Amino acid sequence: MQGCVARRVVRRGIGKDVRMSSTNVLELPLTASGMTPRVVDPTLDLEDEIRRLKRQLNAVILAHYYQESDIQDVADFVGDSLGLSQEAAKTKADAIVFCGVHFMAETAKILNPGKRVLLPDLDAGCSLADRCPPETFARWLKQYPEHTVISYINCSAAVKALSDVICTSSNAVDIVRSVPKDRPIVFAPDRHLGRWVMKQTGRDMVLWPGFCVVHEQFSQRRIARLKAEHPDALLIAHPECEESVLTLADHVGSTSSLLQFVRTSPAKAFIVATEAGILHPMRRARPDAKLIPAEPSSGCNCALCPYMRLNTLEKVYLCMRDGRPEIDVPEPTRTDALRAVRRMLDVSAGKVFVGGD
Ligand code: SF4
Repeated sequence: MQGCVARRVVRRGIGKDVRMSSTNVLELPLTASGMTPRVVDPTLDLEDEIRRLKRQLNAVILAHYYQESDIQDVADFVGDSLGLSQEAAKTKADAIVFCGVHFMAETAKILNPGKRVLLPDLDAGCSLADRCPPETFARWLKQYPEHTVISYINCSAAVKALSDVICTSSNAVDIVRSVPKDRPIVFAPDRHLGRWVMKQTGRDMVLWPGFCVVHEQFSQRRIARLKAEHPDALLIAHPECEESVLTLADHVGSTSSLLQFVRTSPAKAFIVATEAGILHPMRRARPDAKLIPAEPSSGCNCALCPYMRLNTLEKVYLCMRDGRPEIDVPEPTRTDALRAVRRMLDVSAGKVFVGGD
């Protein structure tokens, strides 16, 4: 992974997310990867142990599509950010084991202050969240006092607390359309998603200049070459990709939407421009289809999120066995963030949003 830009970004980010969140609930010093330095007995059947601990803790395991396939296979629910938030909002379990990245586990905690939320690796951050520090964001927002602030869910709890409403890539278009037309909008932190939503809705928005280190590496030139090599394949792309890539796509959507497109399309081949973890459920849904991962432009040729991939099945087991790392979100940040997250869930459930405070 030496040539991988995304991996270098993670290394620079080590410790930053940790300080911003819940280290004070941990009794033991952590390694750089957020885990106590313990060795897992290699003879253990990890899947069995995880199932046993799940019963013992009365836990639910939620996993994002960008997780390793063995983690997806052991999860109770696998989905995109919206689906995972909805599951977190309605779970009756006492503990949530969140196999995803830090902002996702924080969102689960925002929705469930009384439940224990465990994240297998505290360093599992996100370039979008890292590049939108709340203090800088708060200063920047002062220029736009009349604007409704819509933040993509890929941001810290503190940034959510500064926002009027949250969105995911599944519902961003609906959320923007739900804001009265006479209200100007600030959209953060993903500039590519923001630009794509502007195109879909015809709304002008002020964009925070963030980007995802994984999706930004898909280049128009490489994708065009892949399309030429596979003329029958449809290109499907996540809206975190650059506009020049999205203009080539046959379908643009969230990970759930891309999966649904593959499931129902009569086409037999697809070029997939998003994190490669989505290929696991796609292969299950369409074993007959040819799935061609789009190559990023970094040296490693792998479209893997370096943050998501910090989680492993061993770390899922360890976090359940040891009850840490645990996510904590201080009040009143949590209550302010909850207001914005609840608005998103309400709009997704068909309720009306009347604009920011
Ligand atoms: S794929 Fe991109 S947006 Fe998603 S968690 Fe990784 S860095 Fe963040």
